[in-house]
Amino acid sequence: MNTKVIQIDKERDLDPQLFEAADVIKNGGLVGIPTETVYGLGANALDASASKKIYEAKGRPSDNPLIAHISCMDELPALVSEIPEAGKKLAEKYWPGPLTMVFPKSDVVPYGTTGGLDTVAIRMPSDPIAIRLAGVPVAAPSANTSGRPSPTKAKHVIEDMDGKIEMIIDGGEVGIGLESTIVDVSGEIPMLLRPGAITIEMLRETLGRVEIDPAILGPLSADVKPKAPGMKYRHYAPKAEMTLVEGEMENVVSFINREAKAALEAGKSVGIICTEESRSLYEGGILKVIGSREHEETVAHNLFAVLREFDDRQVDCIFSESFSKDRLGQAIMNRLCKAAGYHIVNV
Ligand code: AMP
Ligand code: MG
Repeated sequence: MNTKVIQIDKERDLDPQLFEAADVIKNGGLVGIPTETVYGLGANALDASASKKIYEAKGRPSDNPLIAHISCMDELPALVSEIPEAGKKLAEKYWPGPLTMVFPKSDVVPYGTTGGLDTVAIRMPSDPIAIRLAGVPVAAPSANTSGRPSPTKAKHVIEDMDGKIEMIIDGGEVGIGLESTIVDVSGEIPMLLRPGAITIEMLRETLGRVEIDPAILGPLSADVKPKAPGMKYRHYAPKAEMTLVEGEMENVVSFINREAKAALEAGKSVGIICTEESRSLYEGGILKVIGSREHEETVAHNLFAVLREFDDRQVDCIFSESFSKDRLGQAIMNRLCKAAGYHIVNV
Protein backbone atom coordinates (compact mmCIF):
# COMPACT_ATOMS: atom_id res chain seq x y z
CA MET A 1 0.00 0.00 0.00
CA ASN A 2 1.19 3.51 -0.79
CA THR A 3 0.91 5.71 2.30
CA LYS A 4 0.11 9.33 1.50
CA VAL A 5 1.54 11.91 3.92
CA ILE A 6 -0.25 15.26 4.01
CA GLN A 7 1.10 18.34 5.79
CA ILE A 8 -1.53 20.43 7.48
CA ASP A 9 -1.26 23.93 8.82
CA LYS A 10 -2.69 23.97 12.34
CA GLU A 11 -3.06 27.74 12.27
CA ARG A 12 -5.49 27.47 9.39
CA ASP A 13 -9.08 26.94 10.48
CA LEU A 14 -9.96 24.09 8.19
CA ASP A 15 -7.33 22.62 5.94
CA PRO A 16 -9.14 21.22 2.87
CA GLN A 17 -6.83 18.16 2.83
CA LEU A 18 -8.62 16.98 5.98
CA PHE A 19 -11.68 16.14 3.86
CA GLU A 20 -9.57 13.55 2.08
CA ALA A 21 -8.49 12.03 5.40
CA ALA A 22 -12.11 11.98 6.57
CA ASP A 23 -13.09 10.12 3.39
CA VAL A 24 -10.48 7.43 4.06
CA ILE A 25 -11.95 6.89 7.54
CA LYS A 26 -15.53 6.91 6.22
CA ASN A 27 -14.55 4.25 3.69
CA GLY A 28 -13.07 1.91 6.30
CA GLY A 29 -9.39 2.86 5.90
CA LEU A 30 -6.69 3.96 8.37
CA VAL A 31 -5.25 7.44 8.95
CA GLY A 32 -2.45 8.57 11.28
CA ILE A 33 -3.82 11.58 13.17
CA PRO A 34 -2.04 14.14 15.37
CA THR A 35 -3.74 14.75 18.72
CA GLU A 36 -2.65 16.75 21.77
CA THR A 37 -1.40 13.55 23.48
CA VAL A 38 0.38 11.40 20.86
CA TYR A 39 -0.30 10.49 17.21
CA GLY A 40 -3.27 8.14 16.87
CA LEU A 41 -4.07 5.49 14.27
CA GLY A 42 -7.66 6.29 13.33
CA ALA A 43 -10.43 4.16 11.84
CA ASN A 44 -14.24 4.05 12.01
CA ALA A 45 -14.95 2.81 15.56
CA LEU A 46 -18.35 1.44 14.55
CA ASP A 47 -16.93 -0.76 11.79
CA ALA A 48 -15.45 -3.98 13.21
CA SER A 49 -13.52 -4.70 10.02
CA ALA A 50 -11.89 -1.24 10.14
CA SER A 51 -10.90 -1.84 13.80
CA LYS A 52 -9.43 -5.18 12.77
CA LYS A 53 -7.12 -3.36 10.36
CA ILE A 54 -5.79 -1.27 13.28
CA TYR A 55 -4.80 -4.41 15.16
CA GLU A 56 -3.11 -5.77 12.04
CA ALA A 57 -1.19 -2.55 11.27
CA LYS A 58 0.03 -2.24 14.88
CA GLY A 59 0.60 -5.94 15.48
CA ARG A 60 -1.55 -5.41 18.57
CA PRO A 61 -3.10 -8.32 20.49
CA SER A 62 -6.83 -8.32 19.72
CA ASP A 63 -7.88 -8.37 23.41
CA ASN A 64 -6.29 -4.93 23.95
CA PRO A 65 -9.21 -2.53 23.37
CA LEU A 66 -9.17 0.72 21.40
CA ILE A 67 -10.21 4.21 22.48
CA ALA A 68 -13.11 5.73 20.50
CA HIS A 69 -12.69 9.46 19.83
CA ILE A 70 -15.66 11.79 19.47
CA SER A 71 -15.89 15.39 18.28
CA CYS A 72 -18.72 16.68 20.50
CA MET A 73 -20.90 15.68 23.46
CA ASP A 74 -23.85 14.91 21.17
CA GLU A 75 -21.99 11.85 19.91
CA LEU A 76 -21.62 10.30 23.39
CA PRO A 77 -25.13 8.98 24.26
CA ALA A 78 -25.31 6.65 21.23
CA LEU A 79 -22.09 4.88 22.23
CA VAL A 80 -22.85 4.19 25.90
CA SER A 81 -25.68 2.54 27.79
CA GLU A 82 -25.34 4.97 30.70
CA ILE A 83 -23.53 8.22 31.53
CA PRO A 84 -22.67 8.02 35.25
CA GLU A 85 -22.54 11.26 37.25
CA ALA A 86 -18.73 11.10 37.51
CA GLY A 87 -18.54 10.90 33.71
CA LYS A 88 -20.72 13.99 33.33
CA LYS A 89 -18.62 15.99 35.77
CA LEU A 90 -15.31 15.05 34.18
CA ALA A 91 -16.58 15.62 30.64
CA GLU A 92 -17.74 19.08 31.61
CA LYS A 93 -14.42 19.93 33.20
CA TYR A 94 -11.86 18.22 30.96
CA TRP A 95 -13.36 17.61 27.50
CA PRO A 96 -12.10 18.34 24.97
CA GLY A 97 -8.76 17.26 26.41
CA PRO A 98 -6.33 14.48 27.32
CA LEU A 99 -8.83 12.41 29.33
CA THR A 100 -10.36 9.04 28.35
CA MET A 101 -13.31 7.60 30.26
CA VAL A 102 -14.54 4.01 30.32
CA PHE A 103 -18.35 3.65 30.10
CA PRO A 104 -20.70 0.68 29.75
CA LYS A 105 -21.01 0.27 25.99
CA SER A 106 -24.14 0.40 23.86
CA ASP A 107 -24.96 -2.15 21.16
CA VAL A 108 -23.70 0.02 18.29
CA VAL A 109 -20.08 -0.32 19.44
CA PRO A 110 -18.70 -3.61 18.09
CA TYR A 111 -16.77 -6.00 20.31
CA GLY A 112 -14.07 -5.81 17.66
CA THR A 113 -13.37 -2.26 18.90
CA THR A 114 -13.60 -3.01 22.64
CA GLY A 115 -11.48 -6.15 22.62
CA GLY A 116 -14.54 -8.18 23.61
CA LEU A 117 -15.36 -6.01 26.65
CA ASP A 118 -18.83 -4.69 27.59
CA THR A 119 -17.29 -1.30 28.26
CA VAL A 120 -16.01 1.29 25.82
CA ALA A 121 -13.23 3.85 26.33
CA ILE A 122 -14.12 7.31 24.96
CA ARG A 123 -12.21 10.57 24.56
CA MET A 124 -12.89 13.94 23.01
CA PRO A 125 -9.51 15.26 21.83
CA SER A 126 -8.82 18.97 21.75
CA ASP A 127 -8.57 19.15 17.95
CA PRO A 128 -11.36 16.91 16.68
CA ILE A 129 -11.76 18.35 13.17
CA ALA A 130 -10.82 15.18 11.27
CA ILE A 131 -13.31 13.25 13.43
CA ARG A 132 -16.07 15.76 12.87
CA LEU A 133 -15.52 15.63 9.12
CA ALA A 134 -15.55 11.81 9.15
CA GLY A 135 -18.94 11.95 10.88
CA VAL A 136 -18.25 8.78 12.88
CA PRO A 137 -16.49 8.08 16.18
CA VAL A 138 -12.85 7.28 15.44
CA ALA A 139 -11.06 4.38 17.13
CA ALA A 140 -7.51 5.56 17.57
CA PRO A 141 -4.83 3.83 19.61
CA SER A 142 -1.33 5.26 19.49
CA ALA A 143 0.04 5.02 15.94
CA ASN A 144 3.10 2.93 16.80
CA THR A 145 3.94 -0.69 16.21
CA SER A 146 2.74 -2.51 19.33
CA GLY A 147 5.46 -2.45 21.99
CA ARG A 148 7.44 0.47 20.52
CA PRO A 149 7.46 3.95 22.09
CA SER A 150 4.36 5.99 21.16
CA PRO A 151 4.78 8.47 18.28
CA THR A 152 5.02 12.16 19.08
CA LYS A 153 6.14 13.32 15.60
CA ALA A 154 4.84 12.40 12.14
CA LYS A 155 8.22 10.87 11.31
CA HIS A 156 7.68 8.30 14.09
CA VAL A 157 4.36 7.31 12.49
CA ILE A 158 6.05 7.04 9.10
CA GLU A 159 8.77 4.81 10.63
CA ASP A 160 6.19 2.37 11.99
CA MET A 161 3.26 2.61 9.57
CA ASP A 162 4.61 3.46 6.10
CA GLY A 163 3.08 1.04 3.58
CA LYS A 164 0.55 -0.28 6.09
CA ILE A 165 -2.04 2.51 6.17
CA GLU A 166 -3.69 4.81 3.64
CA MET A 167 -2.69 8.21 5.00
CA ILE A 168 -0.73 10.12 7.65
CA ILE A 169 -1.66 13.67 8.65
CA ASP A 170 1.53 15.53 9.55
CA GLY A 171 0.48 18.21 12.03
CA GLY A 172 3.96 18.72 13.51
CA GLU A 173 4.99 17.72 17.02
CA VAL A 174 2.25 16.87 19.50
CA GLY A 175 1.80 19.02 22.61
CA ILE A 176 1.71 16.78 25.67
CA GLY A 177 3.67 13.76 24.48
CA LEU A 178 2.12 11.12 26.78
CA GLU A 179 -1.09 9.18 26.10
CA SER A 180 -4.37 10.28 27.69
CA THR A 181 -5.30 9.68 31.30
CA ILE A 182 -7.81 6.77 31.48
CA VAL A 183 -10.42 6.69 34.24
CA ASP A 184 -13.09 4.02 34.54
CA VAL A 185 -16.39 5.66 35.52
CA SER A 186 -18.50 2.52 34.91
CA GLY A 187 -18.21 1.24 38.48
CA GLU A 188 -19.32 2.64 41.81
CA ILE A 189 -15.99 4.30 42.58
CA PRO A 190 -14.07 5.87 39.70
CA MET A 191 -10.75 4.17 39.06
CA LEU A 192 -7.62 5.56 37.43
CA LEU A 193 -6.41 2.99 34.88
CA ARG A 194 -3.61 4.97 33.23
CA PRO A 195 -2.00 8.20 34.49
CA GLY A 196 -1.62 11.13 32.08
CA ALA A 197 -1.70 14.92 31.92
CA ILE A 198 -5.01 15.02 33.82
CA THR A 199 -3.51 13.94 37.14
CA ILE A 200 -4.99 11.94 40.02
CA GLU A 201 -4.89 15.16 42.07
CA MET A 202 -7.07 16.89 39.44
CA LEU A 203 -9.51 13.95 39.22
CA ARG A 204 -9.89 13.87 43.02
CA GLU A 205 -10.50 17.59 43.10
CA THR A 206 -13.49 17.10 40.79
CA LEU A 207 -14.82 13.75 42.04
CA GLY A 208 -13.60 13.27 45.61
CA ARG A 209 -12.75 9.60 45.91
CA VAL A 210 -10.86 8.02 43.00
CA GLU A 211 -9.03 4.71 43.32
CA ILE A 212 -5.83 3.78 41.54
CA ASP A 213 -5.50 0.51 39.64
CA PRO A 214 -2.53 -1.37 41.16
CA ALA A 215 -1.15 -1.99 37.65
CA ILE A 216 -0.17 1.69 37.51
CA LEU A 217 2.21 1.46 40.41
CA GLY A 218 4.16 -1.66 39.62
CA PRO A 219 4.41 -4.87 37.61
CA LEU A 220 1.40 -7.17 37.87
CA SER A 221 1.78 -10.68 39.18
CA ALA A 222 0.69 -13.28 36.64
CA ASP A 223 -2.61 -14.08 38.37
CA VAL A 224 -3.96 -10.49 38.51
CA LYS A 225 -6.16 -9.38 35.64
CA PRO A 226 -5.60 -5.68 34.88
CA LYS A 227 -8.64 -3.43 34.34
CA ALA A 228 -7.04 -1.79 31.31
CA PRO A 229 -6.01 -4.82 29.30
CA GLY A 230 -3.22 -2.79 27.71
CA MET A 231 -1.45 -2.78 31.07
CA LYS A 232 -0.39 -6.38 30.83
CA TYR A 233 1.71 -5.89 27.74
CA ARG A 234 5.29 -4.65 27.75
CA HIS A 235 4.99 -1.16 26.43
CA TYR A 236 6.98 1.82 25.26
CA ALA A 237 10.03 -0.35 25.13
CA PRO A 238 13.25 0.87 23.57
CA LYS A 239 15.31 -1.89 21.98
CA ALA A 240 18.16 -1.55 24.49
CA GLU A 241 18.10 -2.89 28.04
CA MET A 242 17.06 0.02 30.24
CA THR A 243 17.74 0.70 33.93
CA LEU A 244 15.83 3.33 35.87
CA VAL A 245 17.86 4.72 38.77
CA GLU A 246 16.12 6.15 41.85
CA GLY A 247 17.63 7.99 44.79
CA GLU A 248 19.34 11.25 45.81
CA MET A 249 20.58 13.03 42.71
CA GLU A 250 24.22 12.85 43.76
CA ASN A 251 23.99 9.06 44.24
CA VAL A 252 22.08 8.59 40.99
CA VAL A 253 24.73 10.46 39.00
CA SER A 254 27.65 8.60 40.53
CA PHE A 255 25.92 5.21 40.10
CA ILE A 256 25.20 5.93 36.43
CA ASN A 257 28.74 7.22 35.82
CA ARG A 258 30.20 4.07 37.38
CA GLU A 259 27.91 1.67 35.51
CA ALA A 260 28.35 3.53 32.22
CA LYS A 261 32.15 3.41 32.57
CA ALA A 262 32.06 -0.36 33.19
CA ALA A 263 29.75 -0.92 30.21
CA LEU A 264 31.90 1.26 27.93
CA GLU A 265 35.01 -0.63 29.00
CA ALA A 266 33.23 -3.86 28.13
CA GLY A 267 32.77 -2.50 24.60
CA LYS A 268 29.08 -1.61 24.91
CA SER A 269 27.46 1.61 23.74
CA VAL A 270 25.63 3.43 26.51
CA GLY A 271 22.76 5.91 26.51
CA ILE A 272 22.04 8.18 29.48
CA ILE A 273 18.73 9.97 30.04
CA CYS A 274 19.47 13.08 32.07
CA THR A 275 17.92 16.49 32.73
CA GLU A 276 18.91 20.11 32.09
CA GLU A 277 19.90 20.28 35.73
CA SER A 278 22.25 17.28 35.64
CA ARG A 279 23.66 17.23 32.11
CA SER A 280 27.07 18.63 33.05
CA LEU A 281 27.67 15.93 35.68
CA TYR A 282 28.05 12.93 33.36
CA GLU A 283 31.41 11.65 32.19
CA GLY A 284 30.73 9.31 29.26
CA GLY A 285 28.14 7.65 27.04
CA ILE A 286 25.55 9.28 24.76
CA LEU A 287 23.66 11.91 26.75
CA LYS A 288 20.05 12.84 25.98
CA VAL A 289 18.42 15.65 27.92
CA ILE A 290 14.80 14.62 28.48
CA GLY A 291 13.73 18.02 29.83
CA SER A 292 13.92 20.21 32.87
CA ARG A 293 12.92 19.16 36.39
CA GLU A 294 11.57 22.68 36.88
CA HIS A 295 9.14 22.14 34.00
CA GLU A 296 8.02 18.52 34.09
CA GLU A 297 5.83 19.02 31.03
CA THR A 298 9.06 19.22 29.00
CA VAL A 299 10.01 15.76 30.30
CA ALA A 300 6.60 14.35 29.26
CA HIS A 301 6.91 16.03 25.88
CA ASN A 302 10.32 14.53 25.03
CA LEU A 303 10.09 11.12 26.71
CA PHE A 304 9.06 8.91 23.79
CA ALA A 305 11.18 10.78 21.24
CA VAL A 306 14.27 10.23 23.41
CA LEU A 307 13.57 6.49 23.63
CA ARG A 308 13.24 6.35 19.84
CA GLU A 309 16.46 8.33 19.37
CA PHE A 310 18.30 5.70 21.40
CA ASP A 311 16.78 3.04 19.14
CA ASP A 312 18.17 4.95 16.15
CA ARG A 313 21.61 5.11 17.76
CA GLN A 314 21.39 1.36 18.51
CA VAL A 315 22.77 1.69 22.02
CA ASP A 316 23.17 -1.52 24.02
CA CYS A 317 22.01 -0.18 27.34
CA ILE A 318 20.25 2.90 28.71
CA PHE A 319 20.44 4.40 32.19
CA SER A 320 17.77 6.90 33.15
CA GLU A 321 17.28 9.27 36.03
CA SER A 322 13.88 9.07 37.71
CA PHE A 323 11.26 11.62 38.80
CA SER A 324 8.89 12.31 41.66
CA LYS A 325 5.63 10.39 41.41
CA ASP A 326 3.41 13.40 42.13
CA ARG A 327 1.16 15.11 39.60
CA LEU A 328 2.51 14.74 36.05
CA GLY A 329 5.43 12.79 37.52
CA GLN A 330 3.12 9.82 38.08
CA ALA A 331 2.51 9.52 34.32
CA ILE A 332 6.19 10.10 33.52
CA MET A 333 7.34 7.42 35.97
CA ASN A 334 4.62 5.00 34.78
CA ARG A 335 6.00 5.21 31.22
CA LEU A 336 9.67 5.09 32.29
CA CYS A 337 9.05 2.08 34.56
CA LYS A 338 7.36 0.24 31.71
CA ALA A 339 10.09 1.20 29.25
CA ALA A 340 12.62 -0.24 31.70
CA GLY A 341 10.53 -3.41 32.08
CA TYR A 342 10.43 -2.44 35.81
CA HIS A 343 14.20 -2.79 36.02
CA ILE A 344 14.60 -0.19 38.78
CA VAL A 345 17.65 0.32 40.99
CA ASN A 346 17.56 2.26 44.26
CA VAL A 347 20.84 3.90 45.18
P1 AMP B 1 -3.63 3.27 23.33
O1 AMP B 1 -4.75 3.70 22.48
O2 AMP B 1 -2.50 2.66 22.60
O3 AMP B 1 -3.24 4.37 24.23
O4 AMP B 1 -4.24 2.12 24.19
C1 AMP B 1 -5.56 2.23 24.69
C2 AMP B 1 -5.58 1.92 26.13
O5 AMP B 1 -6.93 2.05 26.59
C3 AMP B 1 -5.14 0.51 26.44
O6 AMP B 1 -4.30 0.50 27.58
C4 AMP B 1 -6.44 -0.18 26.71
O7 AMP B 1 -6.28 -1.29 27.56
C5 AMP B 1 -7.29 0.92 27.34
N1 AMP B 1 -8.73 0.68 27.15
C6 AMP B 1 -9.42 0.80 26.02
N2 AMP B 1 -10.70 0.43 26.20
C7 AMP B 1 -10.83 0.07 27.47
C8 AMP B 1 -11.91 -0.43 28.26
N3 AMP B 1 -13.12 -0.62 27.75
N4 AMP B 1 -11.67 -0.70 29.54
C9 AMP B 1 -10.43 -0.50 30.06
N5 AMP B 1 -9.37 -0.06 29.37
C10 AMP B 1 -9.55 0.23 28.10
MG1 MG C 1 -0.41 2.71 22.79
